[in-house]
Amino acid sequence: MSHANLIAGEWVHGSDAVRNINPSDTTDLVGEYDRASAAQVEDAIAAARAAAPAWARTTVQQRAELLEKVGLEIMARRGELADLLAREEGKTLPEAAGEVGRAGQIFKFFAGEVLRIPGERLGSVRPGIDVEITREPVGVVGLITPWNFPIAIPAWKVAPALAYGNCVVLKPAELVPGCAWALADIIHRAGFPPGVFNLVVGRGSVVGEKLVSDSRIDAISFTGSVPTGRGILEKAAKRGAKVQLEMGGKNPLVVLADADMETAVRCALDGAFFATGQRCTASSRLIVEQAVHDKFVAGLTEALRKQVVDDARKQGTTIGPVVDQNQLDQDMRYVDIGKQEGARLVVGGERLNREKSGYYLAPALFDNTRNDMRINREEIFGPVASVIPVKDYDEALAVANDTSFGLCSGVVTTSLKKAAHFRRNVETGMVMVNLPTAGVDYHVPFGGRKGSSYGSREQGRYAVEFYTQVKTAYVMQS
Ligand code: ADP
Repeated sequence: MSHANLIAGEWVHGSDAVRNINPSDTTDLVGEYDRASAAQVEDAIAAARAAAPAWARTTVQQRAELLEKVGLEIMARRGELADLLAREEGKTLPEAAGEVGRAGQIFKFFAGEVLRIPGERLGSVRPGIDVEITREPVGVVGLITPWNFPIAIPAWKVAPALAYGNCVVLKPAELVPGCAWALADIIHRAGFPPGVFNLVVGRGSVVGEKLVSDSRIDAISFTGSVPTGRGILEKAAKRGAKVQLEMGGKNPLVVLADADMETAVRCALDGAFFATGQRCTASSRLIVEQAVHDKFVAGLTEALRKQVVDDARKQGTTIGPVVDQNQLDQDMRYVDIGKQEGARLVVGGERLNREKSGYYLAPALFDNTRNDMRINREEIFGPVASVIPVKDYDEALAVANDTSFGLCSGVVTTSLKKAAHFRRNVETGMVMVNLPTAGVDYHVPFGGRKGSSYGSREQGRYAVEFYTQVKTAYVMQS
């Protein structure tokens, strides 16, 4: 039986369905998920609109309890949901369990945050008047999510949206509708009023486009690729909708001559290759000071040779498959481009055969690359990273900043002075010192600069900016 869409509190079947395939074993059908028709997307938007006034007036206690319930169920079903996530997306089971735990914590965090919606009361510059600044819900939000974090990204958009009193229409990525459906089922059973949360599965060009262009949607939060994000921005801006975009990265990890080599190799391995390199925060540019270059490349190569690339749900697997054939083709195309550009492929880059037919790729490391090569300018989104040798710290910082992206960066050093200088001068929204560029907390802002992001930050209490609108009230004292 195919999984339906959640519209106005009802499970509604569609006319055709997405086949959700396991990337570790392409003979394994995870499930079928109905695509919402254009008319059904209209229904979902109308339901959210109709539910919005009453939902905005609910007490913070009501909303806190519902969000808490969702968070607790996600946590209680962590193992089962992690299995589903690993099966549909290809993260290893420990990685998947980490992501599910994060999704649960996010709901619990916003269950608390809903009680602390900020406001201000100030004196007026005129006599006998009080000024009060409050935050009100934006209204109906359209949430469009990518495939690489099938439950955490929906969670970090849906939880604050609901917490701050908005109604939601969620469109997950077609490759991974399973986790989004499970989340919708949990939200539905928690007892949210009909229409407050709606799930519509389908193509970006149909369902996504509709959310972006419909004037009944007040705000769009999107995570995905740069071209899609830019297109959404143009369309949404034309009709004056609020927009928040999280897009790509080409994140630098700088390894300085004074670095602890074990830490450097660990950060590079985790940041560039875990989760199959399919994270927008992945360290795809490894900028290494000449003095430690050979040692670093030898250490990372050795670590890569020890990785076990196999079925995401098999015990002992350290790197799961690439998500699908398209992504695998893209990764391998970039491996060829790197070779043609004159980079030295040190290890990996070849398709692997395993017991099951999956999209297995040996993690690839390029050396002797220059920052102006395409493999260092364009986001690959796979287990492919490049070493860019530099002569000193100043060059390392300049290379780190020489990119159109600005999501995350990292530096591995034992020098307090250089770490402090890097933190101050690197042009990214997030910066890591002696830590991998990927792997962030759930209670603090997430987001980038330059071409990586647009609009206000996601997560933590900074999420209030996007999911509320400010009202300034002037009241004459009686
Ligand atoms: P990726 O698939 O590489 O994560 P995309 O930007 O293609 O990146 O997709 C991210 C999300 O945006 C998905 O849910 C996708 O269906 C959706 N999407 C794709 N194209 C559009 C579009 N034109 N309008 C709105 N959403 C879209």
